[in-house]
Amino acid sequence: MSEASLILSNANVLTLASRQPKAQAISIKDGKIIGVGANKEVSTYVGKETKIIDCRGKTIVPGLVDCHVHMKDFGLFLRQVDLRNAKSIEEMKKTLIQHVKSHSKQPWIIGGRWDHEKLKEKRYPTRLDLDSVIPNKPTLLMRVCGHLAVVNSKALRLAGITKHTKVRGGEVELDPKTGQPNGVLKDNAIDLVSKIVPKLGKDATEEACALACKKAVETGLTGVHWLLSSSEEMNVLQEMCEDGTLPLRIYLGIPERLLDHVLALGISSGFGNEMLKIGFIKILSDGSLGAQTAALKRPYSDNPRKRGMMLYSQRILQKIVIKAHTNGWQLGIHAIGDRAIENVLDTYEEALKKVPAENHRHRIEHCSILSERLISRMRKLGIIASVQPHFVISDFWTIDRVGPERARWAYPFKSLLEKGIVIASGSDCPIELINPLLGIWAAVARNDKINERLSAEEALKTYTSNAAYASFDEDTKGTIEKGKFADLTVLSDDPTKISRDKIRDISVEMVIVNGKIVYSKESKH
Ligand SMILES: [Zn+2]
Repeated sequence: MSEASLILSNANVLTLASRQPKAQAISIKDGKIIGVGANKEVSTYVGKETKIIDCRGKTIVPGLVDCHVHMKDFGLFLRQVDLRNAKSIEEMKKTLIQHVKSHSKQPWIIGGRWDHEKLKEKRYPTRLDLDSVIPNKPTLLMRVCGHLAVVNSKALRLAGITKHTKVRGGEVELDPKTGQPNGVLKDNAIDLVSKIVPKLGKDATEEACALACKKAVETGLTGVHWLLSSSEEMNVLQEMCEDGTLPLRIYLGIPERLLDHVLALGISSGFGNEMLKIGFIKILSDGSLGAQTAALKRPYSDNPRKRGMMLYSQRILQKIVIKAHTNGWQLGIHAIGDRAIENVLDTYEEALKKVPAENHRHRIEHCSILSERLISRMRKLGIIASVQPHFVISDFWTIDRVGPERARWAYPFKSLLEKGIVIASGSDCPIELINPLLGIWAAVARNDKINERLSAEEALKTYTSNAAYASFDEDTKGTIEKGKFADLTVLSDDPTKISRDKIRDISVEMVIVNGKIVYSKESKH
């Protein structure tokens, strides 16, 4: 019998494995699980060097994985101005004044996460609102969805934006009275400003990535599907991996604009090691519901002139999808509106016709406004739904935006599961908080009128075994079984036992990645 390096005993282990769903103890050696069972069974692995942790009845689940997170932006956001809780434009201004005071060295004021639906005024802030408190420093404040921003006059001037500026796949909003830009920028128009923001130095990128990893682990995550935004970030991750400072496993979403570069290198999905792995090609196909830029089949219920927009022509999108697919890449395409989802499914179908593949595991990111027909098409094509359960709570205005008929098919988790579609869950942080327990809570405790709630066990699976499937890792991760990686999250309570509403109050006691304790509540100071 081999000797364990670590044994967790007296626990309530939810293995999520069908063969042995419950256990009391886990023994670990060389980063892997070598035994799962009753305390007595596992105690046979005790040796001289074995560290034994008495879990005192705490619950252990397979390590939680967030399948859609913008980690560098999350790290940066922790240092930026956060307007998430602003309830009025006046309150936004106060927060901005405070931020400018305490960050006087920053050349730009960057941040946001504001949501006009939560503002008393129920409108977008404008450049005039910002100018009144920040006249001299260029300022860029993203809406919570990331598809709309407001900038001040200084930023407009620096970016050279005028009433004549036209942007493909974007919009410079004009004040209906003066005909001048009002500071509101949509989708690709935001790039006009963000591209002139001084580039981060490597130090700042390093700091952001490390901080994001640390915070992610503290919320119970043992892995993330990390949406990469720059080659510098890749550089930092490679270094962290080599130095052994990555506290959690990373599966990378590579932005579409780097597709030709990675193809030129001859690499595809799955390249890398067990800590840092190349994942899928990430494409944005439409905008967001919040900004009314998600591509819908029929107009927005609260704006009959708008149907949102596709960010690529169908011909170009098709070309990119076929190129990635035929070169062995998994794809993850952001599609929120039903028209976008339909178009993306068309491209997947076409690609699969050209080069049939059993095990492609292509994904749709967000997958918000579905229909029964779209769901059965997803099922037929074997597409993974990469969803963010907390959107159900944050997008409380969905019904106004799309009307009750379409809102019925917004985030229909239960229907997706019943149709046999794999759901993998994530946060889309920094758009939402990264905390996976909030996501599990949202999926389980959502409004019950449309019968789309998941059970706690189903919700847990979307963050564990299904997440592992979405990264081709089901043989090594996702359940607590002998031979799999010792990636474990220890929780204060059992989400399958406590009342739904309490799930969000569960605290993370300990996080283990590759058999190492990377976070412990007790040693936190
Ligand atoms: Zn995202």
